[in-house]
Amino acid sequence: MPSHNLAHVTIDELDIIGYSVAGEETVVAMPQLDVCFDVGKAPDQIIPINNVLLTHGHMDHAAGVAYYLSQRNFCGMSAGTVLAPQNLLKPIRDIINAWSRLDGNPIPANLVGVKPGDEYRIKPNLFAKVFPTKHSKGSVGFSVIERRKKLKPEYVGLTSSQIVELKKKGVEIDYPLEIPIVTYLGDTQYVDFSKLKYITESRILIAECTFYEGDHTGRAEAGRHMHIEEFVTLLKKLQNQHIIITHTTQRTPMREIRTILKKALPAEKYGSVILFMDKTPHRA
Ligand SMILES: [Zn+2]
Repeated sequence: MPSHNLAHVTIDELDIIGYSVAGEETVVAMPQLDVCFDVGKAPDQIIPINNVLLTHGHMDHAAGVAYYLSQRNFCGMSAGTVLAPQNLLKPIRDIINAWSRLDGNPIPANLVGVKPGDEYRIKPNLFAKVFPTKHSKGSVGFSVIERRKKLKPEYVGLTSSQIVELKKKGVEIDYPLEIPIVTYLGDTQYVDFSKLKYITESRILIAECTFYEGDHTGRAEAGRHMHIEEFVTLLKKLQNQHIIITHTTQRTPMREIRTILKKALPAEKYGSVILFMDKTPHRA
């Protein structure tokens, strides 16, 4: 019996499972990419995922970090990897050590401190790239990028033996190709993310948009979160094929959020938006 009833979205061949409600819990996992963005309260379904990419230290995003690591050990899995802003490594280590003492068992962990501009290899062809957000001290977001080699156009159509021949001569027959698969913004107030090409071109954007009502702009500002007005500005500058909205407030009912979004966004943009926690499918 799983510990959580999680939202589940499938885009092309990729599953996105998790839970994300402002102030309560945020955890967004993509099992095929072997990453979990933030860890929430560490639902059972994410324990087998090898990499947790933590955006900041707020309890609703990070509470389950020690449980995630401990459960992996308990179930005989390898130590989990947790990428976290560098300034959070010490408190995370302190918590893990405190839990090890409480529990009476050491908790294996692979902790990696990251800062904007860093890259971390998840699989041979898959990298997490770190960029800054505006939420709490050191907060970051992550893009997962696939790197492939592609045959240069002038060599397309050659037979395999011709290609082998060229390789023997030391000819560079291919060039590196970067495919940004997904970008996860975590919690953030408005930032012009269009300046980073791998964000604008990510196939999937997972973005917070917490507040929707006209008189909630002050709340968005105080919590350093995004309001629908800023979110609309942000989307105008991006080209993502799929947009998943997370971290919605409980102050506004979901059907009202849907209505406000539909009014605020151009029809074709609204068609590419999925409200993560919306139980009613509404794809246009
Ligand atoms: Zn936060």
